[in-house]
Order: sequence, then C-alpha cells, then structure tokens
Amino acid sequence: MPTDPTIETPTANVYEAYDMTHPPRHPGIGWTRFVCVSDNHSLIFPVPPGDVLLHSGDLSRHGTLKDIEVTLNWMKSLPHAAKFFTGGNHDLALDANYDQGGSMRNCKPKSLKDKDIVAARKLVRSKELRKAGMVYLEHESTTYTSPSGKTYTIYGSPAAPFYSIGAFQYKAGDGKAIYDRIPASTDILMTHTPPLGICDVTKRGKHAGCPELTERLNNEDLQRCRLHVYGHIHEGHGAAVVGLSPETLSGRVSVNAAMPNKPLAIIVDLKD
Ligand code: 5GP
Ligand code: MN
Ligand code: MN
Ligand code: MN
Repeated sequence: MPTDPTIETPTANVYEAYDMTHPPRHPGIGWTRFVCVSDNHSLIFPVPPGDVLLHSGDLSRHGTLKDIEVTLNWMKSLPHAAKFFTGGNHDLALDANYDQGGSMRNCKPKSLKDKDIVAARKLVRSKELRKAGMVYLEHESTTYTSPSGKTYTIYGSPAAPFYSIGAFQYKAGDGKAIYDRIPASTDILMTHTPPLGICDVTKRGKHAGCPELTERLNNEDLQRCRLHVYGHIHEGHGAAVVGLSPETLSGRVSVNAAMPNKPLAIIVDLKD
C-alpha cells in the first residue's frame, strides 16, 4: 500500500516515506515530480522515478575524485530526464579554493591530488554528464521546462557555515553576501545547508542551520520560491511547508533530504 503524503496542499504533495516497491503514482501532466536526495556520501541506493532529480550536496564520503565519481555514475544511471546537483563540505575536489591557493589550501588532505581537483571540476560540467541530463550548480541558476510548458528557475549553492575543515564553508557572518546572490526569479532553491530553524536540529538538540539563509528566504523578493531543498544536518531529515497563505493556499515546501538512518528520497510534486 502506498503511503499517504505527509504534506498536502492544493499545489504540492510531499512524500517523506513510501513503500519503495509501490511509490506514489505521478499526479499527471500539469504537475512536476521532484525527487530530492542529499548527503548520500558515495552510498548508492534505489530512488523512485520522477521528472527531476535534485541532489543538495555531500556527494562523496572523503571528497576525492573517486568518491565523487561513484555518486555521479549512480545519478547518470537514474531515469529522470533532468538532474540538478550541487556540492557540499565533503566534496573537497569540487572546491576551487583547494586548487587555486585559496584560504583552505593548507587544509588539503594528503589523499587529495591537485590533478583530481582539476579533473573533478571538469567532470561535473562535462558533455558526458550533460548528455545524461545532469547540471552542476555552484552559485548559479538554470532552468527546467516541464512537459506542460512551465519553466522553473533553479539555483544551487554548495555553501555551509564553517563547522570543521571542509569545502565551500564560510565564517559566521559571511553568509549574507553568499545568499544575496540568489536571484529573485528563483522557483526552486538548492543549498547544502538548511536555513536556521527548519529541519535543522542536530542529535544534540541544537538548531544548526544558517541564520543568514533564513533572512534571505524571508525577504519579499524570494516569495515565488516554492521549493527549497537542502541536507547537511543529517538528523534534520524531513519536510515542512512555510508561509502557507490562506488566500492562495500555497506555501514554500522546505525539505531536508539528508539521510540519518536509511536511504530514502523525498518526493515533492508541485502543480505547474
Ligand atoms: P557532514 O560532515 O556530512 O557535513 O555533517 C554530518 C553531521 O555533522 C551532521 O549531521 C551534524 O550532526 C554534524 N554537523 C555538521 N555541521 C554542523 C554544524 O554546523 N553544527 C553542528 N552542531 N553540527 C554539525
Ligand atoms: Mn553530509
Ligand atoms: Mn563530516
Ligand atoms: Mn555537509
């Protein structure tokens, strides 16, 4: 028996857990199914089909080219027509700061070779992955047009607040400039970090999301953003709907697709 949606509004259905052998039926033309994953850390697992696959970073376990390739090859094999992904703090070989003498140069682990960084950064933007429908987003946007003709603008950011040595991290207070780059036209937002206060509680009970991202999301100019997908704080896995307006009956679906115990994607169906 398929599981009922955990969130249901007139314009969105969210499934956090479902029977893998009977995933929910696609609602049909005029709806787009986003299948959200994050923080698989080189672990590969079956995911249900859908129109769009979204991966919010921590593709790899140790940040090497080899570890990143495991996840990219898995994503390549999946049936979704469009696949958007960003990096995370574990994905060292994707961070140009490790390559170009940036602030983290001295923290480069011995196992990470310079040529692997060049190769990984090239691979994520390669023709080969493009052909498989895969688009890497590092502080940038792209678009997806659904079969019914609705165009979604999708923005991805691999950043997260500094916690321990890792890629794409910023000091507390430096998040504003990073998230000011999210364009007002964004319909679908992918970030590695959660925003402070939504699906961001650690096993110690602490809210570990980014306050500057929350501030950016609350800004009026981002009100057309209908889906925010992130990961990073694995224990925060889950979904919520934010700002459900009584007039329009639509709000922003906020999803932490990281996996604390068993691998499972979160399915979000949006009305185009
Ligand atoms: P990762 O190493 O995969 O980025 O994060 C793994 C785990 O480390 C998270 O699930 C969380 O328990 C912890 N963690 C990562 N970043 C932070 C942070 O900024 N603050 C706190 N309190 N915990 C974090
Ligand atoms: Mn992670
Ligand atoms: Mn870690
Ligand atoms: Mn992370």
